Formats: sequence, C-alpha cells, structure tokens
Amino acid sequence: MKRLENKKASLSFEVFPPSSKATMAGLYTSLSQMEDLRPDFISVTCSNKQLSLKESTVKIATHIQKKHQVPSIVHLSAAYSSKAEVNQILGDLHQKGIQSILALRGDLYPEIPRSTDFRYAGDLIAYIKEWDQSFSISAACYPERHPESSNTLEDIQHLREKVNAGADQLITQLFFDNELFYQFQEKCWLAGIEVPILAGIMPVVNKRQAERIVRTASVQLPQKFLAILEKYADNPVALRDAGLAYAIDQIVDLVTQGVSGIHLYTMNQAGIARSIYTATHSLFESTTNQEKVSIL
Ligand code: FAD
Repeated sequence: MKRLENKKASLSFEVFPPSSKATMAGLYTSLSQMEDLRPDFISVTCSNKQLSLKESTVKIATHIQKKHQVPSIVHLSAAYSSKAEVNQILGDLHQKGIQSILALRGDLYPEIPRSTDFRYAGDLIAYIKEWDQSFSISAACYPERHPESSNTLEDIQHLREKVNAGADQLITQLFFDNELFYQFQEKCWLAGIEVPILAGIMPVVNKRQAERIVRTASVQLPQKFLAILEKYADNPVALRDAGLAYAIDQIVDLVTQGVSGIHLYTMNQAGIARSIYTATHSLFESTTNQEKVSIL
C-alpha cells in the first residue's frame, strides 16, 4: 500500500547545558540570537553524570519557552534515574509548562551503578505515558544502528517497541551519508514505524570538532567529507565554510527528498544556526509529496 502526505519539513535546534557560569551567559546570548530564526523547537540535552537536571536542562528549557516563546524539549535519561526521581522531574515539567521530553536510556558509565527501575528508553517512555498521556515524547534512533546492537533488524525491532510504548517522533543520531539515512527510513516504514523521523545534522566547523568526530564516530565518514577535514585542517575559515557547505548540501537533499524534519546540532553557536537557516529556510516553506511504502 502506498500513502501520499503533504507536509512541510520542520527545523529544530539542539543545545547543551554549559559547564560554567560564563559559558551559561554565552548560551543565553546564543538563544537570544536564535529566537528570530523561529525553530519549531529547541531541545536541551542532559548528562547521566550530571545530577542536577533541574538546575541545568530544565532551567534552560524553561528559559527558552518563557523568554523566547519557542517550544522546548527536555532530554531525560533513564539509566541512572529511579521512579521517584522521574516522578519529581515530571511534576516539575508540568508545573513549568514543558510538555515535551526526549526519553533516553542515556550513555552508560561502568563505574556508576545503574538504577534498576528503567533498563531501556522504552521503559521510561511507557512510564511517562502512564504518568500523563499528554506528554509528547521523542526518542533517539540510529540510521547506522546503535553501537551496542549486533544487527540492524534487532535495532529497528527495539525502535518499534519504543514507538509502541508511546514515542511520537524520532530524532536520529548525526550522520554524514544521506543514503544510509534513506535506507534506514525505508526499513522503519517497512517495520510499520509511522511516526516522523527527524534527521540529526551536525555541521563540522572546526579542527577540534573534526578530530573528535574522526576519533570517536560510530558512523561512516564519506571520502568527500574526510577530504574536507584533511585539506582544510590548518585553515580554520576554509574548514568552517566547507563544513557548513557540507551540512547545507545534506539538508538541501534531505528536504528535497521529503524528510519530516531537520534537527540541527548547533553546539550552542547561534552563528552556525543562522548560516544554515539563511541558506535553506526557503526550502522549509515548500510542502512535499512524500511517498511511504507500507507492507500492510
Ligand atoms: P535505547 O533505546 O534503550 O537503546 C540502547 C540499546 O539497547 C540499543 O542497542 C537498543 O537496540 C537496545 N535495546 C532497546 N530496547 C531493548 C530491549 N527491550 N531489549 C533488548 N535491547 C534493547 N545521551 C545523553 O546522555 N544525554 C542526551 O541528552 C542525549 N541526547 C541524545 C539525542 C539524540 C537525538 C540521540 C540520537 C542520542 C542522544 N544521547 C544522549 C545518546 C544516547 O543516550 C545513547 O546513544 C545511549 O547509548 C542509548 O540511548 P537510547 O535512548 O537510544 O537507548
């Protein structure tokens, strides 16, 4: 069965809580500069190691909604949280008018004992939905599969369980090869996953970031991308320009092909968000005929 949908792609941003007061001031300045780009939402990451979610992630998300009137999504990780702690956070979010959560298992740290209340993100999603049906839940997904998964089929099966538990949309891990995203999206559709899948795009704009990506990435780095990092390694302006152009090229292709949305990993830099927005915002105004193939 084939289905046609008319819709516009969304554009959203991700920011992270900075580690110091000085950088917090920098983030607040960046958020002011992102406001007139009118993103569909801004999500705020959390850290499993960081105990004060309320003082960081929730505080920033509240600031985004109250000061800038942009909807925010709070990242909430399960691996080290008890039900009592989650109850408290959900109550706090309710009180602050934050209705959207990106529910995660979170990164694992072998040296820290895990909570036994939530093993996987799916357990947290089901718990939140039971707590209050009105929370809108996003979940993470991995076009090149999660590093702990032994195969893609199993990973997509677990993703489907997260959707069945109540995830309303999915946001991908960053990727640099759009073809791998399209293959993943098709596998999701074939597995009956019908919720929007937002493509996570990270512009790589400086040498430190490039070196970290090359050292740690669990995603494929296409030759064209590696050539940019190599050729402009010692030319910061050229590296920034080429990194932005690479991300813009990915976004143009994804929006043209009918992606549900682009989620931009901004690294708290308003200049990056603005450059991408300026180059692509007219594309987000067009509706797309997206053909979905379902096996029903
Ligand atoms: P899960 O969905 O629980 O999956 C983890 C692994 O378990 C996968 O291999 C999956 O296939 C498997 N699995 C899932 N369910 C089952 C099951 N029922 N039985 C057996 N196996 C199962 N980390 C942070 O700490 N803070 C953040 O703010 C943050 N934001 C992120 C945002 C996005 C968009 C993405 C893509 C990732 C983010 N992460 C963040 C990283 C994420 O926490 C890690 O990748 C983590 O290792 C997995 O989290 P998850 O929610 O995808 O886990």
